[in-house]
Amino acid sequence: MDVYKLRPENAGSQHIDRETFEAQTLRDKPWYRQNGKGEDVQYAVCPACDNPIQIIGLYRLPPRVNNPFGRHTGQSVPDLAELDPEERDNCPYFKPRPREKSARRRSLTPVSQKILRTLIEQFDRVVYLLRKQTGIQFSRNLLRKMLETYRAEKGYLYIGATLLNVPWIFAYMSNSQSIVGQYLREDSDPDLILAIQDRAPNAMISDDRQICRKTKDFLSLAVCFIHHRESKDRDDGGLMESMKMVVSTDPDRWVHQKVIPFDHQEFQRLVQIHGEKARRQMDLVEMAKEVLGDLLS
Ligand SMILES: [Zn+2]
Repeated sequence: MDVYKLRPENAGSQHIDRETFEAQTLRDKPWYRQNGKGEDVQYAVCPACDNPIQIIGLYRLPPRVNNPFGRHTGQSVPDLAELDPEERDNCPYFKPRPREKSARRRSLTPVSQKILRTLIEQFDRVVYLLRKQTGIQFSRNLLRKMLETYRAEKGYLYIGATLLNVPWIFAYMSNSQSIVGQYLREDSDPDLILAIQDRAPNAMISDDRQICRKTKDFLSLAVCFIHHRESKDRDDGGLMESMKMVVSTDPDRWVHQKVIPFDHQEFQRLVQIHGEKARRQMDLVEMAKEVLGDLLS
């Protein structure tokens, strides 16, 4: 992997880079230590699963490797991070793979609790990213329904859910939702607008960009997110994740589809904005707390 964090309790991730790592750790314990053979080794924490990782190649690169990288360790690193084998085995940095959408962790683990807490506390940022990437201005009512579906589906226990992909797995786990009556954003994909107008019988987009019925007849139009995919970049071990957004009139009639890449860095950037600049929408956070908050108590 090409990212790390210093402590399990930290949020977000950082790109592995010797200068930064040295400045943050001052080459001291618990990150710098000696292994059983008396060699200097460096440790940090996996930002996706909170397990300990070893940083390889910070000072001497192994043959045919261009950049230092992180690798999950096989044991706990004292004073830094405990090994949690179940979370490590689920971690996409440990082993990217196709996942069953129905595969869940066995219980509410510390990582899944953290995922839930992040979703609640950052729900306005989650919504911001969802609106921006889909072009659909999900209404408060629709967002509440999505939260309820996520809760019923136990989306926070999905084994593909990590500390880094919270916004997208929320959408992924909210199943199919009707978008009749929803508004499209001004910057939404022109292909989406055209597809709805041309390929969904009885659908139209009003002047103020609302998805409406053309006649009094019934209109079915839904959005759903499918095909969560993970892959690791061969060169630097970076993780790429995506899912597919599908707009359909019924399950076998797709009107529009688009791959949505998970922009982990953008979510982290939003989470780190504090103070007035943050322009938080606490009403959305409050709503997430109403639907999910008791799961944490
Ligand atoms: Zn991990």
